[in-house]
Amino acid sequence: MSDTAPAGSGRCVLVTGGSRGIGAACVSWFVANGDRVAYLARSPAKAADGALALACDVTDPDGVEAAFADIEARLGPVEVLVANAGITRDTLLARMDEEAWRAVIDTNLTGTYRVARRAVARMLRLHRGRLIFVSSVGAFVGLPGQANYAASKAGLVGMARALARELASRSITVNVVAPGLVATDMIEALDASRLEQMKELVPLGRTATAEEVAAAVGFLASEGAGYITGAVLPVDGGMGMGL
Ligand code: NDP
Repeated sequence: MSDTAPAGSGRCVLVTGGSRGIGAACVSWFVANGDRVAYLARSPAKAADGALALACDVTDPDGVEAAFADIEARLGPVEVLVANAGITRDTLLARMDEEAWRAVIDTNLTGTYRVARRAVARMLRLHRGRLIFVSSVGAFVGLPGQANYAASKAGLVGMARALARELASRSITVNVVAPGLVATDMIEALDASRLEQMKELVPLGRTATAEEVAAAVGFLASEGAGYITGAVLPVDGGMGMGL
């Protein structure tokens, strides 16, 4: 954890999984936008300049509560939540044991429920707020070996739509970003031939940068997106269109 709270005049933004990849790009986007930014990761080693980095596992309810209390004391109530922390444990169903199923659901889906519930408790009093869930094109395409991951990411869409209706009267919007193939550590884990096969499914013919996803997240958090709620914004080079 960094010792000093970052300066800034904008909103209080929390990004889960902000230590690398898409989350780190979101942290940088909001810091550059003048917001007060905190992020969570299990090992938040690479602290982004100007952000408050907290060690927190989103699968640990007590840890999440402690992190929110810390953020609220140092930066104020969370006004924008980017629920981005996610993992994969890809394997075919026959080999997908309960632990591999549970780990992915608990991090990607239940972890998002946990941080959203905690953030919303304060947003309700503020009568404003933005929730942005990072799902995946995999929620709609359903790639083999990703039953746990696809279920977790599709679950985020249902959760977002239910919350969008539930929270609209308090001016809290809830939206989903669905990235395709993004050049981060997560896809480094794929073998090269599988990655090439997947790129062939992308009309734009390349992976996205994490910054391209962060720009979409930043838009959904912006003033200009105030009338958008319950939406799923694909950032996938066209990979999932029509699904
Ligand atoms: P990375 O693996 O690069 O980063 C994942 C981030 O999540 C890290 O900061 C990691 O930090 C954190 N994290 C993982 N588990 C937990 C946990 N239990 N508690 C708190 N933090 C955690 O992934 P990406 O940047 O590629 O992915 C970010 C999101 O985007 C994920 O939800 C992913 O499913 C989604 N996505 C990614 C795509 C891609 O092609 N890369 C495509 C579509 C969606 P630490 O390990 O220290 O906890």
